Amino acid sequence: MELARRIRQIPPSATLALNAKAKQLQAQGVDVVNFGVGEPDFETPEHIKEAAIRAIREGFTRYTPVGGIPELKEAIIRRLEEDLGLKYEPAQIMVSCGGKHALYNLFQVLFDAGDEVIVPAPFWVSYPPMLMLAEATPIIVRTREENGFRLTPEELKAVITPRTKGLILNSPSNPTGSVYPRAELEALAEVVLAHRLIVISDDIYDKILFDGQTFANLAMVDPRLKEQTFVLNGVSKTYAMTGWRIGYAAGPAKAIAAATNLQSQSTSNPTSIAQKAAVAALTGPQDSVAQMVAEFAWRRDDIHRRLLEIPGVKSLRPGGAFYIFPNVSAYFDRIQAAPGQSRSGMLAEYLLEEARVAAVPGGEFGEDTCIRLSFATSRERIATGVSRIAEALQKLGG
Ligand code: PMP
Ligand code: GLU
Repeated sequence: MELARRIRQIPPSATLALNAKAKQLQAQGVDVVNFGVGEPDFETPEHIKEAAIRAIREGFTRYTPVGGIPELKEAIIRRLEEDLGLKYEPAQIMVSCGGKHALYNLFQVLFDAGDEVIVPAPFWVSYPPMLMLAEATPIIVRTREENGFRLTPEELKAVITPRTKGLILNSPSNPTGSVYPRAELEALAEVVLAHRLIVISDDIYDKILFDGQTFANLAMVDPRLKEQTFVLNGVSKTYAMTGWRIGYAAGPAKAIAAATNLQSQSTSNPTSIAQKAAVAALTGPQDSVAQMVAEFAWRRDDIHRRLLEIPGVKSLRPGGAFYIFPNVSAYFDRIQAAPGQSRSGMLAEYLLEEARVAAVPGGEFGEDTCIRLSFATSRERIATGVSRIAEALQKLGG
């Protein structure tokens, strides 16, 4: 059977595939340190679970409005206003089955065949395939490590053509942990406004920020930009709710209505009881978030320090999210890549076999000199995992 062209060009999600592989090895009894996983290792807070249980007991188990229940849209609107100072109406909000789904819906309604969408690299693995599923052309722009892997206005200007329609920004970033300071966003805003680019601001890690930084996105730096920006977020990361599948987009009503229309013809509403849980997450006590961020900050310091002790390994200090993206290219010429394999893929494979450590190859994020380690795992596993990496690299001769 010949499958449709649109799916033949799409690889499976590398992050999810690696996580599945690590879990499979663990199930076979292999002691793998899983740095592959991109989800908090904390439990969903009790009051959120209780809200879902209550929803089941009260029979809140039927179809809901396609784009989300009014109560959840109100909770999202309140958070966006209180936390970011951005004002929205319910017609400007769509709740979907995870942030990934909200992005997918948006790309389908915003971009056409031939439209170019700028994706700064390193990027989250799903942006290019999702754009290709919309028949748009991802324009990958490599950012520089010495600029903290953040896009500069000059780099942005250099790739804009008459076909450029959009720009994706993700801060704090998966996979680098880099955070755009407000001043850098202001500089980018001028270019974005001059070329009337649609901005997709993937803010899914906005609450996971270290060192007392304050969050900013492009919609916040200029009111005119809010008219052409879609703010993307969800409860997966902030409230340790990856399995519940609730994400949302906020932006111009016309596109939100179109994306909701698409959702009505595909998935219908996100799960009713998960929506009730999300209301509890967004409106309830926020202390679990602060506790989680404090723990991630401790681990960030620890893993960063440990990695820098390995000869030849360089790494930026992440300002947010729960990933670190060390440059391991000093070891590349000491192992042989299989035909067609990326250099970071070869090193990640070596680490899995030799050190029993799962890491995602940087090539999957468009930066082949690095590997991504998620520190959403315990302090003890971080210590074990990094010393195994150090030993395995030492064996290659350092
Ligand atoms: N954006 C980024 C950068 C992510 O890392 C993720 C995590 N998968 C998402 C969006 C979507 O997360 P979810 O679908 O769980 O809301
Ligand atoms: N965003 C997480 C990661 O990058 C979860 C997996 C995924 O959805 O890609 O690992």
